[in-house]
Amino acid sequence: MTIPQTRPMILLLGPPGAGKGTQARFLHNTLAIPHVASGDLLREHRRRGTALGLAAQEFMDRGDLVPDEMVVKMVMDRLQRSDAVRGALLDGFPRSSVQASTLDALLAERGSVVQTALYLDVPTEVLVQRIAGRWLCPSCQATYPSKAHTTAAPGDGRCVDCKDLLYQRPDDRPEVVQQRLEVYLRETLPVVEHYTERGVLVRVDGGRAIDRVRATLCTSLGGAVRGHHHDRWHLYISSRLRADDVSGPWQGRTLCGRRVADRTGHRRGGEADFLSHSCRHCYQELRPRQRPILELPVRRASQQASTEQASS
Ligand code: ADP
Repeated sequence: MTIPQTRPMILLLGPPGAGKGTQARFLHNTLAIPHVASGDLLREHRRRGTALGLAAQEFMDRGDLVPDEMVVKMVMDRLQRSDAVRGALLDGFPRSSVQASTLDALLAERGSVVQTALYLDVPTEVLVQRIAGRWLCPSCQATYPSKAHTTAAPGDGRCVDCKDLLYQRPDDRPEVVQQRLEVYLRETLPVVEHYTERGVLVRVDGGRAIDRVRATLCTSLGGAVRGHHHDRWHLYISSRLRADDVSGPWQGRTLCGRRVADRTGHRRGGEADFLSHSCRHCYQELRPRQRPILELPVRRASQQASTEQASS
């Protein structure tokens, strides 16, 4: 099995309920690379009643992992698609040591690599609470919190974007959640260790508000940069997609849509700098609903000619 030559992969790891889906949708929009979620792919197979979907059903309903060979083939088939040639964001995969080593080997065959593994770390009691109260949109997979154990969907019971009826995942029942958490500790924590040893793991505190977690994800994949004229910090995502990769020149795109690069002498900073005096347009982009950053045209035509200054 081969996959096309790709740009490096980004992994989103974390226990059930850590917010991988919510953050993955943000990163997908920000980076303009496909979001490949093994759980969503499996649920889609189940909806379509494929052989894989039928075979996966009993494992998923029990909260167990679907056998490695089925999941690996499914994800690799997805990565064959042309939209993944620019790289992909893998969510929920790899989830076992076998899946991790198989992924590494298949990427290595193509001269590609896992560039960054973002690990959303959330305390177990928060996870249980979040999962017990979550409702989902079947179309866009957006999650809507409600009070734990209630039977009523939040709001009018429909997704604010798609207008589809919200539902609760059958495997979000408390006894299945318990099993999923146990499976996570046994099977997936070794994956976290695997990428820690490889030096690509970034641990992110996922127990905070969504916009704060997003700010950390951005600084993990780029950083904050200050303009020349005003005392405002901008968040940017680097084309190298790892903040601690200091080899060679860097360039990136701020969340508010400007190109930045080291040769323009931008002052670089971290999350605390951004939070101290943030560009309000960048901050706005951390809230739900935002546009692809890496595909955005720069704000002003004059800024396209020379390398732009992040100065507003
Ligand atoms: P969560 O992360 O909240 O558990 P997912 O949607 O990622 O939810 O996964 C739902 C279920 O799908 C899992 O409990 C498991 O049965 C199956 N699954 C998803 N990804 C994998 C994988 N990489 N390997 C094996 N099984 C998987």
